[in-house]
Amino acid sequence: MVSRVIPVDDFDLVIFGATGDLARRKILPGLYRRFRDGQMPPEARIIGAARTSQDADAFRAFVRGAIEEFTPPDKQDGDSLTAFLARLSYVAIDARGTEGWSDLAATMRPKVIQAFYFSVAPALFGDLAERLHGHNIARSDARIVVEKPFGHDLATAKALNATLAAHFDESQIYRIDHYLGKETVQNLMAIRFANILFEPLWNAQYVDHVQITVAEQVGVGGRGAYYDKSGAMRDMVQNHLMQLLCLTAMEPPSHFDPDAVRDEKLKVIRALDPVRPEDIVRGQYKAGEKTAAYLTDVEDAKSRTESFVAMKVHIANWRWNGTPFYLRTGKRMRARMSEIVIHFKEPPHSIFDEDAGTKPNVLSIRLQPDEGIDLSVTIKEPGPGGMRLVDVPLDMTFAEALGADAADVPDAYERLIMDVIRGNQTLFMRGDEVEAAWRWTDPIIEGWQGRNDRPVPYEAFSSGPEDALMLLHRDGRRWREVG
Ligand code: NAP
Repeated sequence: MVSRVIPVDDFDLVIFGATGDLARRKILPGLYRRFRDGQMPPEARIIGAARTSQDADAFRAFVRGAIEEFTPPDKQDGDSLTAFLARLSYVAIDARGTEGWSDLAATMRPKVIQAFYFSVAPALFGDLAERLHGHNIARSDARIVVEKPFGHDLATAKALNATLAAHFDESQIYRIDHYLGKETVQNLMAIRFANILFEPLWNAQYVDHVQITVAEQVGVGGRGAYYDKSGAMRDMVQNHLMQLLCLTAMEPPSHFDPDAVRDEKLKVIRALDPVRPEDIVRGQYKAGEKTAAYLTDVEDAKSRTESFVAMKVHIANWRWNGTPFYLRTGKRMRARMSEIVIHFKEPPHSIFDEDAGTKPNVLSIRLQPDEGIDLSVTIKEPGPGGMRLVDVPLDMTFAEALGADAADVPDAYERLIMDVIRGNQTLFMRGDEVEAAWRWTDPIIEGWQGRNDRPVPYEAFSSGPEDALMLLHRDGRRWREVG
C-alpha cells in the first residue's frame, strides 16, 4: 500500500528562534522531510528569525548542518536539500526591539497561508504578538504556534493566554504537545472509535486499571537550573501525561473535529478528583556509576524538586468510577519508554482448572521507543498437554499488512506543523484545557510545599523509588517493567 501524501497549500512560515535547539533538531529537519516527501508545495517559504546577525546564506548553511545531523542518511539527498534550502530566508530580529520588522513585513506574501512559530522563551510571546500586529504583519487569519511550557501554574498560564488573546483569536493559536502528534496516539482514537470491539469494554466494569508511563533515561543534563524550578509534575504530568490520560478516558466526541475532541478532553480534566497525599510518590535520582545525582546536577543540595512522580488518579464520572489510573514519569530510569496500558479485568468465572493459568487481557499502546499497539489474548498452548493457557500478543500495528510505508511514519513535529498549515487544531491544546490542567495540578504542588514534602531518593537507571512500587502493590497490582 502506498502512503498518500496530500500536499498542503502554499504558505509563509516564520520561525522565531530559528537558530535555537528546537528549530535545529526538530522543526527544520521535519520541514525538510515534508518537502522531500512532496507535502510542502515547492513555492512555500520558510523565514528564519532570531537576534543573531547573519545573511540568508549563513542561515542556509546552519540549516544544512542541522538536516545532515538530524535526518537519517536514507532520508536525505543532495537535490532535494538544495531545493529546500532555496526556500529559506532569514531576518535578524529582536523580539523586544524595533529593527528588522519592516524587513519581515516586506518579505511576507499577501495571499498565502501565514504561520508564525514562536520557538522562543514564553516571556517573549507577548513582545512577538504585539510587534506582529504593530507592524501590520500578521493577518487576522494568521496562525501562531507556541511551545511548552505553557505557564508555570494557573496564574501564569492565564496571563499567557490573555497576552496571546489580546492579539489573536483562540482559533489562530496552536499550543503544541508533541505527544499528540505521535502516530500511536492517533491510532488510540481510531482503535477506540472506529471499531465496535473495544468501546463496550472501555469502562470501569471491564477495565481493572490503566497505567501511563513516560520514563526517560537521561538526567536533567544542562537544563538543571531550569528543571529545578519545574520538576516532573509541571514538566511532564500537567501536559504530556494529562493529554494521554484525556485521550484514553474521554467520551466519544460527536465528530473528529477540533472543538468536539477538545471539549471531551476538557470534561475528563474537570472530572479528576483531587489526589490524596498518600497516593503520590515523589523521587530524586541518586548518582549512578558514571552519572551524577539529581542534587549535584541542579547544584542545590537542598532542592526538593522531584525528578520522578507516580500517582493514583481517579476520574469521578460514570464511566470510570472505581477504575484507578496510575501515572508515572521520571528521569534516569532504566529505559526510555512511553506507554499507555489498559489492564482489563479477568473473566467473571473461569471454566478452566486453576493450574491452566488464566491472565487478564492487556492492551498496550507504546509511544516510544518503538511505536506500536498490542493486545495480549489468552489461548490454548498448542500440543497435547491438556488445556494449558498462554497469553500471546496480538500485534495491532499491522505495519506488515499496510506495507513498508506504514512503518515509515512522520515524526510528531512534522505532522503537527503540517496540521498548522492545514488549519487543523484537533491535536493542539486549547487554552481552557491548559488552564483546567493547572487548576488540578496547582493544589497538589501547593500541598507539597505546605508540608515541606521531601522527594525520596531512587537508584539511577531503575524503575523509580520502592514506594512507587508499593503504590500498586498495596492495591494488589504491579507496574509493567520499564524497558
Ligand atoms: P534555545 O536553544 O535557547 O533557542 C532560543 C532561540 O530564541 C534562539 O534562536 C535565540 O536566538 C532566539 N532568541 C532568544 N532571545 C530572542 C529575542 N529577544 N528575540 C528574538 N529571538 C530570540 O531554546 P530552544 O530549546 O530552541 O526552545 C525554544 C522554545 O521551545 C522554548 O519555549 C522551549 O521551552 C520550547 N521547547 C524546547 C524543546 C527542546 O527540545 N529544545 C522542547 C520543548 C519545548 P538568538 O540568540 O540569535 O536571538
